[in-house]
Amino acid sequence: MDAAGEKIRKNYTQERKMPRFGFPKKARIYGSLLLVFLTLGLIPAFSASPQELKIAYTLDARQPATHLFQVSISVDGVKARSLDFSLPAWMPGYSKILDFAKNVQEFRAYDGTGQELQFFKVDKQTWRVLRGVDGTIKVAYKIFANNLANINIASHLDETHAFFNGAALFCYVVGFKERPVTLRIQKRADWKIATGLEKTAEADVFQASNYDILVDCPTEIGTFTQYDFSVDGIPHHIAIYGLKDFDAGFIVADISKIVQACSRLFGGLPYRDYTFIYHLIDRERRSGVEHANSTAIIFNQLDFQARRKYDDFLNVTAHEFFHLWNIKRIHPQGWGPFDYSREAYTKSHWFAEGITTYYAGLILVRSGLWTKEQFYQDMATKISDHELAVGKKLMSLEEASWNIWLKPDNSANTTISYYIKGAVVGFMLDLEIRKRTGGRKSLDDVMRDLDQSFGQKNIAYKNEELLQTINKISGSDFSAFYERFVAGTDDLPINDYVSSLGLGLICVQDPPVGYLGIETQKTLDDHVRILNVIPGTSGYDSGLDIDDIILALNDERVNYDNWPDLLNRQKIGGIVSITLYHRDCLVTKSVRVGEIRKAHYGLKETEPTTPEQSHARVSLLGNQSTK
Ligand SMILES: [Zn+2]
Repeated sequence: MDAAGEKIRKNYTQERKMPRFGFPKKARIYGSLLLVFLTLGLIPAFSASPQELKIAYTLDARQPATHLFQVSISVDGVKARSLDFSLPAWMPGYSKILDFAKNVQEFRAYDGTGQELQFFKVDKQTWRVLRGVDGTIKVAYKIFANNLANINIASHLDETHAFFNGAALFCYVVGFKERPVTLRIQKRADWKIATGLEKTAEADVFQASNYDILVDCPTEIGTFTQYDFSVDGIPHHIAIYGLKDFDAGFIVADISKIVQACSRLFGGLPYRDYTFIYHLIDRERRSGVEHANSTAIIFNQLDFQARRKYDDFLNVTAHEFFHLWNIKRIHPQGWGPFDYSREAYTKSHWFAEGITTYYAGLILVRSGLWTKEQFYQDMATKISDHELAVGKKLMSLEEASWNIWLKPDNSANTTISYYIKGAVVGFMLDLEIRKRTGGRKSLDDVMRDLDQSFGQKNIAYKNEELLQTINKISGSDFSAFYERFVAGTDDLPINDYVSSLGLGLICVQDPPVGYLGIETQKTLDDHVRILNVIPGTSGYDSGLDIDDIILALNDERVNYDNWPDLLNRQKIGGIVSITLYHRDCLVTKSVRVGEIRKAHYGLKETEPTTPEQSHARVSLLGNQSTK
């Protein structure tokens, strides 16, 4: 985003190779035909050379009670017969089709004199505007923004504030995303602005060197609580929406430590300034979206003010901050420049998310915000979560990365979390690099090399270049590791890896309890609804089904509260009768009572510790390893 920082790659060959349509001098009839084709949507609208277009956005947030932002986009220097304006189908940072165009209303188009221009839609998210007599096309529309619960991937406007993700509001001019843009924000006089966008000399007017950067800067507008600090002489801003008479100044020192730890790892901070935007709301506990010089994070208001989940708050902050390297700069192909009209694919998403998840914990322990025991427990919980994943033998990290856009109906039984397994595999990978190189190299060196070879040059890496970089740094062949744990679904032999740190994975199991292999949910009338049936369990073999409502066990009435006790009273291995509604039919099924033993995983230091193991712990965890 800054001059020395985010440099969106100048690879627009595909767009530049597209035909440019201007009316040929020699044949008016061609022009007429072209207009017909354009009107029918048969030819993509295109325009004069990119250098000549001047694009200015205006956002009016002065009627907050309506939840309607008013957007206008003025394009000067248009020579073509038409321009296409398209609103993204998704936003980087959240790989799901969101179709922001669904919230657009009252779209209009004008020329430079205010005369209305003709327009029509060529697909669900693209408006084609036919040029008038002058070279200006101005479009204006309203967009409904009332999604506070999902504010990180949407926008919100009400009497308390305005917040937007640019992708949810601003159409791009098709073929001209690389053009510099300005944004004027019209707001209430007592509201201020927090954003990663670059200021101009004019108040409330910002600029971005292209559309990708414009929409990579979420913006909070309102009366938020503000804290500022500097690291390495670079300004950092914190904007918090939702604080109620509460001094949150303590976060400044903690967030500074996160920034400093990352700066030490990468050898400096690659941005002009950085803005942390927090929305403390009464719903979702935590989520965040990364950006190149900012982040937008949701956290539960009560949890924050009571400091009940403060470790989580720091964890999500460290995660999103680390992303400014690992995905915003060190990014796979498809993740910049962006095609906002459709899905982008990579096998490497596990690296972007899993490695970032791993590093969030490392950064917290290295900066002294976590103890080493917290780090051990965090990793042990992830190992446990992956071990319990029903789909762990069915889906690899690369497959999960590719399928990021899909949520199968049977996802509970067929998928894995690339965050969880990716973090565990990242931990194993880091320890293996350290082991093979005698402690001379680590995943830190891989990250620095990726940053220098790809991130700082703004080159997207190819999938195979991750393994090539690991091999180069370690001077060793990690193909088999990759094949087993990244491309494959081999079990993760944790103890083979953590022993180099003098750690052992322990698993303590509770006594066995009755188990049918079902996951359940409470219905509004206090019944037990089956949410999922796990393959290979007695419930699965007996035909228990998703959405069945359990009414009785051995003719004894079941409700949600007594169900666990009733089941636990049954003899393991015995047969019980389950009476249930399957759709609208009353059915009784005989089911064998299986067993399950709840497992508690932990990573514990083994005794005695060798000097090599002590050294490895200090190298990985920093000074916390000796406390
Ligand atoms: Zn992430």
